[in-house]
Amino acid sequence: MSISNWNKIPSVKNARLISFSSEVEYKESTCIRGNGRSYGDASLNARIISMINCKEVLDLKDDILHVSSGFTLGEVLQIVLKQDFLFPVITGTQFVTIGGMIGCDVHGKNHKRNGTIGSWVEEIELKIPSGEVVFCSELKNKELFRATIGGLGLTGAILSAKIKLEKLKSKGISQDVTEYKSIEELLTGIKESTSPYKVAWLDLARKNSTYFLLSGDFNAKSKNVNFKAANGKISIPNIGVSYLNKISMGLYNRLYTRRLRKEKDAQVSFSEFFFPLDKMKNWNNVYGSKGFYQYQFILPEKIGAEGMKIIIDKIRASKFTSYLSTLKYYGEVESPGIISFPIEGYSLTVDFKNKPGIVSFLRELDQLVIQFGGRVYLAKDAILTAENFRKMYSTVDEYKSVIKSVNSGKINSLMSNRLKLVDA
Ligand SMILES: Cc1cc2nc3c(=O)[nH]c(=O)nc-3n(C[C@H](O)[C@H](O)[C@H](O)COP(=O)(O)OP(=O)(O)OC[C@H]3O[C@@H](n4cnc5c(N)ncnc54)[C@H](O)[C@@H]3O)c2cc1C
Repeated sequence: MSISNWNKIPSVKNARLISFSSEVEYKESTCIRGNGRSYGDASLNARIISMINCKEVLDLKDDILHVSSGFTLGEVLQIVLKQDFLFPVITGTQFVTIGGMIGCDVHGKNHKRNGTIGSWVEEIELKIPSGEVVFCSELKNKELFRATIGGLGLTGAILSAKIKLEKLKSKGISQDVTEYKSIEELLTGIKESTSPYKVAWLDLARKNSTYFLLSGDFNAKSKNVNFKAANGKISIPNIGVSYLNKISMGLYNRLYTRRLRKEKDAQVSFSEFFFPLDKMKNWNNVYGSKGFYQYQFILPEKIGAEGMKIIIDKIRASKFTSYLSTLKYYGEVESPGIISFPIEGYSLTVDFKNKPGIVSFLRELDQLVIQFGGRVYLAKDAILTAENFRKMYSTVDEYKSVIKSVNSGKINSLMSNRLKLVDA
């Protein structure tokens, strides 16, 4: 069986996918996998334990949700929204599992206010590589807790977690759209916007880039649209080759730009606001069988516009077109994860077709990111070298020493081998 994650690169031929059960044993070259919605190789190896059927408990007491790791965010939202609670951190797709969200310490459009999911996790039930089940939290086995949050599944399989939820203000959402003329204006706009949820959409494929800030909040005046966990209605077939070229993307971006200009102060549904890409099932097929690279990096706030401009100019001057680009602002809430991605600043996410030369080009971008004191997001990575990883993540030795205390090499992944995260 050939298995890959969402961007289709790399792919492991003849991988063994084993469904999790309490009897499943860890063996050499085993990794833990949620729903494979990471882009890259964080949940790939020759032997893979799939946690997607780990669904024993989903129980809400007051504002604490006790949930098994195999439930998807969509499945959880469908239950908790009905009880007027909200998941504090919502990713750009509903198809991630709770285990995968904790394993990557994900962030949403509201990082400034809520930080990453790790800040909301009260306790984790973990099956460590020895096979023992342990509980960890800020109060108990703290170092293990901090290495598990954003720890890429290398401390063992998360079985369940207790997560604090937020009270829901209303089920309707109002969205506002602001257009900016330059990256400098956009960065100031996104930082200063008082909306809790905000993300920017950039069309970098055009000669004159456009910059839109989409911001939103729950609003009692908006129409109440219930959320239902479901696959998108539009299915994109895999025709082998990519659908994307300058003409098709130019047209799409023009139509989307027109729509955004009309949508100022719109009332939108939960799915439209949080999961616009989920409308299209298998949208990753638009890149064809060769797949694509999603490159997400963050730069410290002080380097902000200057660094972003240099990197954007380099992308625009290259032969590689970024078909989808989004930008987020991150506040000062610190994540408990030892190697979590966010720092206070701005991140840019760009998607590139897989074509000759792209890896060398992305490595050139790595050098700029390092020069500016930033880092790339491991949930989206398949190419970073161990040396560059170390330059971006100064806490790597602290993380590795906790991994070493529980994992003597039984659990590893293509990513952990590439970045030398597990010492056998
Ligand atoms: C359309 C789209 C939008 C996205 N938007 C965002 C976003 O807004 N913010 C963001 O931060 N990320 C985003 N992501 C990335 C995604 O949220 C993360 O990669 C997430 O971790 C994927 O979850 P998964 O269940 O598919 O995990 P997988 O991809 O299968 O695994 C990811 C990592 O988690 C580990 N893991 C999975 N399950 C467990 C478990 N039970 N126990 C221990 N470790 C485990 C794996 O070993 C691996 O290291 C997006 C991805 C897509 C496809």
